[in-house]
Amino acid sequence: MENMQGSVSINTENIFPIIKKWLYSEKDIFLREIVSNASDAISKLKKLISVGEASVDESEWKIEVTLDKEAGTITVFDNGIGMTRDEVIKYINQIAFSGAKDFLEKYQDKTDDAQIIGHFGLGFYSSFMVSDKVEIDTLSYIEGSEAVHWESKSGMDFEMSPSESEERGTYITMHLSDDSKEYLDSYKLRETLTKYFSFLPINLYFIDLEEEEKKAAEADKKEGDKEIEVIKPINNTTPLWAKPVKDCTEEEYKEFYRTLFHDFNEPLFWIHLNTDYPFNLKGILYFPKLKSQYDTLEGEVKVYYNQVFVADNVKEILPEYLMLLKGAIDCPDLPLNVSRSFLQNDGYVNKISAHITKKVADKLTGLFNTEKETYHKYWDDINPFIKFGCLKDEKFYDKVKEAIVFKTTDGEYFTLDEMGDLNAIHYTDDLVQQAQYINMYKDSDIKIAILNGPLDNHFISYLEYKNPGKVKFIRVDADVTDNMKDSSEEITREELDKISELCIDDFKKISANEKIKIKAEAMKSSMPAIILLSEESRRMQEMAKMYGGLGFPMEDDITIVLNAKNKTVQKLIELKEQAADQEKAELICGQIYDLAMLAHKPMEAETMTRFIERSAKILDMISE
Ligand code: ADP
Repeated sequence: MENMQGSVSINTENIFPIIKKWLYSEKDIFLREIVSNASDAISKLKKLISVGEASVDESEWKIEVTLDKEAGTITVFDNGIGMTRDEVIKYINQIAFSGAKDFLEKYQDKTDDAQIIGHFGLGFYSSFMVSDKVEIDTLSYIEGSEAVHWESKSGMDFEMSPSESEERGTYITMHLSDDSKEYLDSYKLRETLTKYFSFLPINLYFIDLEEEEKKAAEADKKEGDKEIEVIKPINNTTPLWAKPVKDCTEEEYKEFYRTLFHDFNEPLFWIHLNTDYPFNLKGILYFPKLKSQYDTLEGEVKVYYNQVFVADNVKEILPEYLMLLKGAIDCPDLPLNVSRSFLQNDGYVNKISAHITKKVADKLTGLFNTEKETYHKYWDDINPFIKFGCLKDEKFYDKVKEAIVFKTTDGEYFTLDEMGDLNAIHYTDDLVQQAQYINMYKDSDIKIAILNGPLDNHFISYLEYKNPGKVKFIRVDADVTDNMKDSSEEITREELDKISELCIDDFKKISANEKIKIKAEAMKSSMPAIILLSEESRRMQEMAKMYGGLGFPMEDDITIVLNAKNKTVQKLIELKEQAADQEKAELICGQIYDLAMLAHKPMEAETMTRFIERSAKILDMISE
């Protein structure tokens, strides 16, 4: 074989510095590219054998990544198809290079898009990102081939000569440059390989020469003919998602979850995706268990391409809310050689995402219909996901709306339709602060939904919006229902109105709110009064707060409801009617108001001081 020298192309001086700069944030990519090429080389040879175009005896298809710290090199070997001299010229000097050039042309002006590159192939030339020199030693599977050596210092000029290699397949040796020495760290290299290739379909070995020498030396010392520990592949060639659903056990699903996420909390349940038609999609999506209501909703869906890791949470492929799940999906049909913005508009991607959405919705409604109790048990954990999904995607809402349930203060679960009067679905968003109110519903058959999650506020507005005129949510402190009234009491409306009239001025004064409304009712409760806050004005306030407290501070649209049955209230009326002991009347008014307020929301410092001082005064009066 003649030696040969040449340039891969002309006018290339600027290409590599640019590639290096771009890829800097995702340097690991070079490993993914080189090992993927090795894996492809093996697949190609296997394919040729299967169609009878090659006959090769091979006991184990494998890829070896060897770290030689002393030499400062990483070598990737595969026993695949190999290359003849002509093929090296064609594939490496011409095609691989033009691939890199195309790539550059495409991304030349998209420097702020540096992230995208990580997901898309740059191929063999990415090895120059981390190397001062790259060598290829390759021997083709074709009988009678001669091994070829190729090397290049810059990626621009190369030298070719005969190689001493005797093994079929290809060695790619990268002499790491000074700014990439981190890959000489055994731990770092192994970790990077594990990240991308945990599920590579071909055995992948990691060999740290220094480590192996140490082991060999120790074995020597011990003498005897103890065998040196055999190195095991770092990957599992059949990830669980590739197994037929019927062959997977519950324990395997859980184990797979642990290996993927090192999360020892068991997932609640999972969905095994396995589609061949009209597109290929495999994967397992888990519903994680939340540690608390307020746990950040953050899942992790690892995207694979033919069992090679691409990235986490690729938002162009998955609907945002599905990223709250955890799991892995393998999309071998993904057009990875295109830009992200293209992916977003790609019909295939839309189909994947619609398919996953449907599967997730089917799983949820299936569980709801067939295992209601289990579903209820999961509800606390899955409801943020479902609510978020509904808010983000109407189609998802349409699919799961029947399976939306409400947990009540009695610890039971009901669907919207089962909640009772849809125009007045009572709820609490704070079990402690609203305890007094919840108590008042105790003997009634009104169900009170607990809606205290971070999304619930939006979610109930969403449900109202989706069911116009049909569904209305009312917080427990927004309304006095007939159930709370004592119908046995025979006080007429006129009498009740008279009570309000008698006291209105006092309550305006004590509340310092000219617009406060007053009302009297005979109530079952033993409390002298309660405060009601109108649902609309409260929600408007909450909205305003959320959008940065824009606009003017709104007065609370509140009503104080006096309990005509309560002794203190009756005493107050008596005092007012007789216009006697004005001081006492004022004390009672103040105390009634503050007590009602206390059961309504946390007190501010000033009110608290006033309340405590007045309470002490009342105690003194009783003690006199
Ligand atoms: P791509 O893999 O996208 O085709 P690359 O730049 O990675 O582009 O590689 C160019 C070509 O070089 C490959 O298509 C293949 O024919 C050849 N090649 C690269 N690595 C190997 C290898 N390990 N064994 C055999 N051929 C290889």
